[in-house]
Amino acid sequence: MSFQALVTSKGDDGKVSSSVETLTDDRLPEGNVTVDVEWAGLNYKDGLCLTGAGGLVRTYPHVAGIDFAGIVRESQDQRYKAGDRVVLTGWRVGEVHWGGYAQRARVNADWLVPLPDGLDTRDAMIVGTAGLTAMLAIDRLENLGVTPESGEVLVTGAAGGVGSIAISLLARLGYQPVALSGRPEHSATLKELGATDIVGREDFLGQPDKVLESARWAGLIDNVGGKILSKALKQVKYGGAAAAIGNAGGIDLETNVLPFILRGVTLSGIDSVMQPYANRVAAWSRIAKTFDLAAYAALVEEVGLAELPDAAAKILAGQVRGRTIVRLR
Ligand code: NDP
Repeated sequence: MSFQALVTSKGDDGKVSSSVETLTDDRLPEGNVTVDVEWAGLNYKDGLCLTGAGGLVRTYPHVAGIDFAGIVRESQDQRYKAGDRVVLTGWRVGEVHWGGYAQRARVNADWLVPLPDGLDTRDAMIVGTAGLTAMLAIDRLENLGVTPESGEVLVTGAAGGVGSIAISLLARLGYQPVALSGRPEHSATLKELGATDIVGREDFLGQPDKVLESARWAGLIDNVGGKILSKALKQVKYGGAAAAIGNAGGIDLETNVLPFILRGVTLSGIDSVMQPYANRVAAWSRIAKTFDLAAYAALVEEVGLAELPDAAAKILAGQVRGRTIVRLR
């Protein structure tokens, strides 16, 4: 049986490039469940894998795609049978294991999550790793005592995938999400999603730096790291909490202990990749009940496999708005 895949290869000159090829099932990697992939997602990490940046992919030829949703075609694992609707995110699929940029994938059953009622495979990829991570971050802030009554929650990298879904979920849960974005042209869209205020990236970074700054945020969901996380931490209110998700703006974090020892602020890391199964199932279920897919529709762009290399360059340049999803059928 043959299927289409976006195969990423490394040339003798070290250059990484991708092209659509027809493959047969015998090329699929080891695994006990074969899935007919219907939709995949585009994430920042996919941009790295498709361009060879960051050294995430070690073995070529490779099929990237860190998340996908589809229908089980064949299963040697008793938890799944042909016809089941499944979603996969993380576990380094698309990095060290072949991923979702193909009409067929073979994976380990432990990595799959059954799709909850209320989400189809396209919906699941609008959410994708981005939405799952946003939900996990909100769960974490709540576990650390942040409630809708605590006050505003700052979301950085707000016009990106994780940020925009975090804004939408927070608003639906009764929070006051404030969007920090470097792209003022998306302010109206972010407000429609539920942002109660917009903070411009330049304005934010342009304010004088102090060791501790005026306290404004009950919670912080940070997708960019670097100077933005450093500054935002100094503005978290007494007893507040910050969830560190991403490094779109850099991996450095220069800070001081005052937010932690004078305001009791907690900085907590979120990793969606190795997240235990039970947490994933709970998060997907909460997403299915909470996420307003209709309100998010304007932030979804569909591409085919052949358009992915261009889309990858755009996401690395911070030019993608919301979620880009990949049509496989
Ligand atoms: P996107 O590219 O969709 O969004 C990132 C956003 O960050 C951009 O839209 C932009 O927002 C902002 N940004 C980009 N470059 C810069 C910069 N140089 N300085 C400041 N802000 C910048 O990516 P995702 O939403 O998919 O992912 C966000 C981050 O989270 C990435 O670093 C990703 O690797 C990480 N991530 C981590 C996960 C985990 O498990 N911990 C899971 C998923 C993602 P704007 O234009 O609004 O300013």
